[in-house]
Amino acid sequence: MEQTFIMIKPDGVQRGLVGEIIGRFEKKGFSLKGLKLITVDRAFAEKHYADLSAKPFFNGLVEYIVSGPVVAMVWEGKGVVATGRKIIGATNPLESAAGTIRGDFAIDIGRNVIHGSDAVESARKEIALWFPEGIAEWQSCLHSWIY
Ligand code: ADP
Ligand code: MG
Repeated sequence: MEQTFIMIKPDGVQRGLVGEIIGRFEKKGFSLKGLKLITVDRAFAEKHYADLSAKPFFNGLVEYIVSGPVVAMVWEGKGVVATGRKIIGATNPLESAAGTIRGDFAIDIGRNVIHGSDAVESARKEIALWFPEGIAEWQSCLHSWIY
C-alpha cells in the first residue's frame, strides 16, 4: 500500500494545529503508520530540502524548519501521496483552496504549516531519512470499511 511522508512544521506545532491536521488525514480514511515529535538540526533540514538548495529562500526555509519541534509522520492508503497533497493545498497559502490545510490555516508561503511528499519516489526517500529506525507494521480494523 502507498505511503507518504507528512511533516507538521514548527508553526503548525506552536499554533496547536497538530490534532486538527491529524484529524483530517484520519477522517479521510488514511492510516497513521509512524509518528514522532522531533527537532532537527541544520544539516538534517538541508538534506530534507536538498533539491531546493539553489533557491534564494533556502536559508530562511532551513532556519524555519530547525526553529522548533516538528511532527514527522508516515500515512498510508490508496493514492495517499497525491491526495495528501490535495488535503494540504497549494504551496502559497494565498493560492490554496479553502478547505485545504494551508488554505484554512496559513497566509505566508514561508509559514505554510505542513509538508507532504510530492511523489511516491520522494516519499520513499523522505520516509527513509526521517524514520531510519523503520516503521512498525499494523493493520487498521477500519480497513474493510474504507476499501
Ligand atoms: P511544497 O512544500 O508545496 O512541496 P516546495 O517543495 O516548492 O513546496 O517548497 C518547499 C517549502 O519551501 C514550501 O513549503 C515553503 O515552506 C518554502 N517555500 C517555497 N517557496 C518559497 C518562497 N518563494 N519563499 C519562501 N519560502 C518558500
Ligand atoms: Mg516540495
